[in-house]
Amino acid sequence: MGKLFGTTGVRKIYGSEFDLEMALNLGKSLGTHLDGGTVVLAFDVRTTGRMVADAFSAGLLSTGTNVVRAGMLPTPTLAFVTASHGYDAGVVVTASHNPPEYTGVKFWSRNGMGYTPEEEEAVESLYESRKFKVAPWDHLGTEQIIDTAVTEHMQAVRTRCDADLIKKRTFKVIVDPGNGAACVLTPYLMRDLACKVITINGQPDGSFPGRVSEPDEESLRDLARIVPETGANLGIAHDGDSDRVVFVTESGEVVRGDRTIALLAREVLKTSSNKTIVTTVDSSRVLDETVQKAGGHTVRTPVGDIQVSIKVNETKAAMGGEASGVFIFPEFHLAPEPFLAACKILELMARTGQSFGSLIRQIPLYPLLKTKLECRNELKAAVMQALTRKLPETFRDALDVVTVDGLGISLKEGWILVRPSGTEPAIRITCEARTARQAEETMKRTKNIVAEAIQRIR
Ligand code: MG
Repeated sequence: MGKLFGTTGVRKIYGSEFDLEMALNLGKSLGTHLDGGTVVLAFDVRTTGRMVADAFSAGLLSTGTNVVRAGMLPTPTLAFVTASHGYDAGVVVTASHNPPEYTGVKFWSRNGMGYTPEEEEAVESLYESRKFKVAPWDHLGTEQIIDTAVTEHMQAVRTRCDADLIKKRTFKVIVDPGNGAACVLTPYLMRDLACKVITINGQPDGSFPGRVSEPDEESLRDLARIVPETGANLGIAHDGDSDRVVFVTESGEVVRGDRTIALLAREVLKTSSNKTIVTTVDSSRVLDETVQKAGGHTVRTPVGDIQVSIKVNETKAAMGGEASGVFIFPEFHLAPEPFLAACKILELMARTGQSFGSLIRQIPLYPLLKTKLECRNELKAAVMQALTRKLPETFRDALDVVTVDGLGISLKEGWILVRPSGTEPAIRITCEARTARQAEETMKRTKNIVAEAIQRIR
């Protein structure tokens, strides 16, 4: 992969790493790559969003590519309209859950799937070559506006769940879009399902004043307090561009994404003829166990929602997901679909008469520990190479060694994942076990071996 694109799209600090000329040239690169056609273009809540989109649009127009401006949208809505309208590509100006000073762009194909690393490379090599198509003055692209993307997306989501059943229950739901793009969708979708909706951090604001954009236990403390305080049935939280969703139980527990995937996968497998569930290497073992009990099997991919999409598409899987809060329902489309995930949970609650807390208790919670050790970028490869031999030797109960992304070791009572960080000079360690003591012991041993390897190579 080149230096422009990261795990998904371009994500950089505005001012020091990214400027408008880059946006303009990225627009020219995509227009040259497509060689005409129509691109739908949106932005999330970032302060740089509209401005970067304007420069990007100018680049596209200069190559003779038409642009449809969709305004401020959640990333999944942009992906949805790209596919449903059959545009040649979709682009959203976003930096996902990164801090507010970041900006970037993410590309989508006509089939609603994010650009694969190969497609990104094609755009990047045009960007590097500066050999852009230049349309003459009388063959420039034209710009149009679409202002119905959110309503179209919401309607499509509602038809994919039992909306009437959900409406009968008049659930009370607290929505926390974290000042991100979901402000324009989730509260209204819940209202349309006859829920009583309270929204916190509900004004779109690119400075993210309410909380850190990444939804986790730490950043969702307010939501976790307000749900039980108000007697609500469910809490729903998103990241900045709203391709992730994290749920909170009626008693205020922030539920890890892999457990929610397990809960929904179990339901999906009841009716799906394909029994494959795709997830990333860092998901809990409980997902495999739940899926196996439901007659299915899991396939693991490297981290990143595009990796899950690619594998879902390849295996024609029943569902895909990432523990960070990504849910992919291929019968709808191949992009993350947090809104349908929320509806499916409400539907399950309505059908079973059980609370979200009691439903999720059916999926065991295994202790999972994460840490990172500092390691200079240029040493990462050598350290990982050394660990490939050393780490499996150390754990005598190792059942399997997986190298799909980093180094994964399957143990009798859990697993270890050691991988170089894609964003920081660090090696990340994750381990899971059946008990907290086992997890701590495994983490201690792994950390020592990784630290030794870094020390030796430095
Ligand atoms: Mg995101």
